[in-house]
Amino acid sequence: MATKKFKAESQKLLDMMINSIYTHKEIFLRELISNASDAIDKLYYRSLGDSSLGLDRSDFSIRIDTDKDARTLTISDNGCGMTAEELETNLGTIAHSGSFNFKKDNEKKEDIDVIGQFGVGFYSAFMVADKVTVDSKPYGSDSANRWESSGADGYTVTPCEKENYGTTVTLHIKEDTDDEKYGEYLDTYRLESLIRKYSDYIRYPIIMKVTTSKLKEGSKDEYEDVTTEETVNSMTPIWKKSDDEVKEDELIRFYKDKFFDYEDPVRVIRAKAEGSVTYNALLYIPKHAPFNYYSKNFEKGLQLYSNGVLIMEKCADLLPDYFGFVSGLVDSEDFSLNISREMLQHDRQLKAIAKSLEKKIKNELVKLMQDDRGKYEEFFKALGSQIKYGVYSDYGMHKDMLSDLLLFCSSKEKKLVTLAEYVSRMPEDQKTIYYACGESVDKIDMLPQTEAVKEKGLEILYLTEDIDEFALKAIDKYNDKTFTNIGAGDFDLSTDEEKEQIKKLNEESEGMFGIMKEALGDGVKEIRFTNKLKNHPVCLASVGEITIEMEKVYNAMPSGGPKIKAELALEINSNHPIAERIKALYLSDKDKLKDYAKILYTQARIIEGLPVENPTEYGDLICGLLV
Ligand code: ADP
Repeated sequence: MATKKFKAESQKLLDMMINSIYTHKEIFLRELISNASDAIDKLYYRSLGDSSLGLDRSDFSIRIDTDKDARTLTISDNGCGMTAEELETNLGTIAHSGSFNFKKDNEKKEDIDVIGQFGVGFYSAFMVADKVTVDSKPYGSDSANRWESSGADGYTVTPCEKENYGTTVTLHIKEDTDDEKYGEYLDTYRLESLIRKYSDYIRYPIIMKVTTSKLKEGSKDEYEDVTTEETVNSMTPIWKKSDDEVKEDELIRFYKDKFFDYEDPVRVIRAKAEGSVTYNALLYIPKHAPFNYYSKNFEKGLQLYSNGVLIMEKCADLLPDYFGFVSGLVDSEDFSLNISREMLQHDRQLKAIAKSLEKKIKNELVKLMQDDRGKYEEFFKALGSQIKYGVYSDYGMHKDMLSDLLLFCSSKEKKLVTLAEYVSRMPEDQKTIYYACGESVDKIDMLPQTEAVKEKGLEILYLTEDIDEFALKAIDKYNDKTFTNIGAGDFDLSTDEEKEQIKKLNEESEGMFGIMKEALGDGVKEIRFTNKLKNHPVCLASVGEITIEMEKVYNAMPSGGPKIKAELALEINSNHPIAERIKALYLSDKDKLKDYAKILYTQARIIEGLPVENPTEYGDLICGLLV
């Protein structure tokens, strides 16, 4: 049979393995044992739904054998096995989920990083072997096939003889070099310790022939080598071990392997419950969004085990959307092994577990915020928007649960603060929490309103993400304090006397504003003088429920629906020289007053970051003043 070439991407990964100078080549064994265990899982899972297969859990095992003379190491399983086509597609085209996507995003990163930080899968065998042979026979089939490759040149798939179903991977271990003693992978002691180190929790027995020296029977000082078959792994799932038995770094290694992260999580959560619901959970809060989080392929969920046996890879109902970035697993004996997805969805136990986990996650996040603010902020910068969506979603149903987790940048120290922190330092007579919206902290600082409010010594929260204002509107009140957008039309900090003054001025100016409004058409609902602005001539305020930021956000959404418009008021600083100028024009030159209205309105739009409706006209008007 002709030799086939590997697919381009696989070839790249393979080259990386063959030429690897990675120091922890030993992880290849963990990878192959995991594959064997997964294959057994698949068959076992199938047998749960089909008793006619006549398989029992105790039938399954993984074997490790060595042959020092032939320099071979063999890993055999009695799992699902592969057909010729499956050998071809599974082993000929490996675009390994985690590592490859990561690699593409970070071309510059060292190969070594990728190997160390992810599980690298089947090809890792080529770090220690110069030839790999895979014999496989699917369960229930009577024909077997052999996949074979010496690496770079490609691979062959040919029919072969194989007695039992399952897969046997044979590694032809490389010759030792000055730097690398590959022969160690033929040594049973070494293999035993590797299995204990990396694969102890594998749920099927890993059986090996172990030779030990024993006293000869009837003798006091004569020893003989006795070879016995032993199960090397303890088979206790890592999450069932007590805190004393398993260290945090082991839990983290498990996370990186199983859930494909290259960084440590910010928090490992171990939870246990006994009583109305019984479960054991091991959850991880990541430092950053999972690599495909924002793609449509992303599925939230936790692995669900029933007494140590995987029954569902991604159980979405165990996590609310806003904690969708959490990964991990739940093991509960309350579920029968062959419960269907359909049944699970309506399962009361499952709902109770989900509720309890949700609380646990929230509490851990609060703890993290208290114990290690820096770490929490890092987490929040990466994933805080999820929590804000959570506050806003389902009509604000989860706001009480989530609002303590929010952080916003504040004008006080330009640092992230919680709502509780903001409220705790509010002057007694301050009734409301002030915020302003904009693209960035700097841009908000440039808003005319911001200057005036800061001048009064008030703290402002900077809302720079699209979702922010929606979240605050959903919260409505925090500790009895309302929220006030300093960009809103009804926002006013002036004294009664000042209010009276400006009201009078506006009434006197009605005629003038009427002419200016005529020039602006539908653009603005109202024109008025204001005393809120310090040095800036104009600003826009929204009148009504839809704010300017909301208009921007809605219209940027690809909904295709009709565009919405905030109703706007053009506000002119009554203390600015421009006020006197327009009053004079009202008396002397009404046409020019109209031009001024257009210029001032356009300027206000620019300051707010709204599009200029007619740039040519605006340019001409400004030029008219310049020449
Ligand atoms: P991963 O296990 O992450 O999918 P691998 O490179 O380790 O990636 O393996 C590629 C695929 O080959 C697996 O997804 C699986 O379908 C198949 N495979 C590997 N080893 C075995 C095995 N021992 N038995 C059955 N299928 C296997």
